Amino acid sequence: MPKFELPELSYAYDALEPYIDRQTMELHYTKHHAAYINNLNNALADYQAYQDWSIERLVMHYNELPQAIATVVRNNAGGHLNHSMFWTFMKKNGGGQPRDKVYAEIAKSFGAFQKFQEQFNAAAKTVFGSGWAWLSIDKNGQLLITTTANQDSPLKDGLKPLLGLDVWEHAYYLKYQNRRPEYIDAWWHVIDWNVIEDGYQEALKRV
Ligand code: MN
Repeated sequence: MPKFELPELSYAYDALEPYIDRQTMELHYTKHHAAYINNLNNALADYQAYQDWSIERLVMHYNELPQAIATVVRNNAGGHLNHSMFWTFMKKNGGGQPRDKVYAEIAKSFGAFQKFQEQFNAAAKTVFGSGWAWLSIDKNGQLLITTTANQDSPLKDGLKPLLGLDVWEHAYYLKYQNRRPEYIDAWWHVIDWNVIEDGYQEALKRV
């Protein structure tokens, strides 16, 4: 039996206050993320041939699955992977500026850190409906900002995501209601740039 499980959260539900409120964190993690995992496990329960696939393989190659489960795996494997990453991009007392190599590369690619933030914010604000905004690295080592709809992952497009922001309404509606831009602005205060730096340096080894 496949058993994808909820990864441990390395901080308390209220750790990201006041930027992301305790209730949103708890619901997002224990209800939304858990539901993606349950749905994924249920979808694969009768399909033993795919039960040893990694989450990344499922996300990238869902179109090789039987038609009966391809869409549900696309949505829920994506939901599991995206949220597993998302929690690690944040920490208590985060924020500030990127570190070391990724800071230099962001400045080089976008002109300045502030210009990168502006472009990322614009991308996140203009996701229509539910989706994500991402900073990814491509196979040539180039940084780029993209968005995905629903729970699709940049991995599907051959990109390695380094940082991503969930702009589904469930990620912010309790505290910010329809004010997605306020949520986006607040989120910069909780980013764990150490994780982004580590992901960047790891990705560079494979360029
Ligand atoms: Mn979410």
